[in-house]
Amino acid sequence: MPSPDGLPPLRDVIEAHGLAPKKSLGQNFLLDLNLTGRIARQALPLGEATVVEVGPGPGGLTRALLAEGAKKVVAIEKDPRCIAALEEIAAHYPGRLEIISADALTVDLSELAKGGTVKIVANLPYNVGTQLLLDWLTAEEWPPAWESLTLMFQKEVAQRIVAAPGSNHYGRLSVLAGWRARAAILFDVSPAAFTPPPKVTSSIVQLVPREAPMPAALPKLETVTAAAFGQRRKMLRQSLKALGGEALLTRVGIDPQRRAETLSVDEFVRLANAS
Ligand code: SAM
Repeated sequence: MPSPDGLPPLRDVIEAHGLAPKKSLGQNFLLDLNLTGRIARQALPLGEATVVEVGPGPGGLTRALLAEGAKKVVAIEKDPRCIAALEEIAAHYPGRLEIISADALTVDLSELAKGGTVKIVANLPYNVGTQLLLDWLTAEEWPPAWESLTLMFQKEVAQRIVAAPGSNHYGRLSVLAGWRARAAILFDVSPAAFTPPPKVTSSIVQLVPREAPMPAALPKLETVTAAAFGQRRKMLRQSLKALGGEALLTRVGIDPQRRAETLSVDEFVRLANAS
């Protein structure tokens, strides 16, 4: 029986195209169109949007994005085995699905956005998800070429992205994400929703860029957060010793006895700019 969108069920697509999931490519597929629909709807409105999807695989989320009315979806997939399956979706939605057969780490987002902005929606491959997020967060051009990110991560990574000062999850990723974006966990997804099921729970995270983040020299921000969280149990006067220690902290009005996880994002930016 075809699915509500008139295309074959995803299990049949996987079988017909020999898409046995590969661990090396982080392939945990979502076959439940109710769930992919729910994820796609988090990025509404889609009617005027170009959506970039990383890792469409057999196309469950791709189909949901198109069924929810995305004007255009650009899907970047590294596994050549998936391309024929995706072409069938493209034929079903003429002119609305562009397939790029490539490693997403090598794709220039601003070229895809063509001067406008895109919404990124993805059930990310876990092995490259954090790197892709860091690339999107540290774009030179700001506001960036993306207007929102709606992404699946392992729950533990999602908690690190959205963590506030004082939390055990607060670290380098939280500072970078908090500096340039507003981030929130929208809902969790149980391992049983995936084929094959991963070992851990996942979460959908949404990030929206801040229009005017505090200006900061990115390499310095990275150096300061790496030093501070590299020794997160130590006082900052110790962990930041090589960067100026007590004198630096006093200069920006931060008590040298504090620890990394108590500092706000603004305080990290002030430290980076003074170091
Ligand atoms: N979107 C599909 C779904 O929700 O069922 C598949 C998600 S699966 C977690 C991750 C997908 O990303 C796989 O299709 C995998 O082949 C693809 N992938 C892995 N590494 C990639 C990379 N560097 N660039 C683009 N796609 C990649």
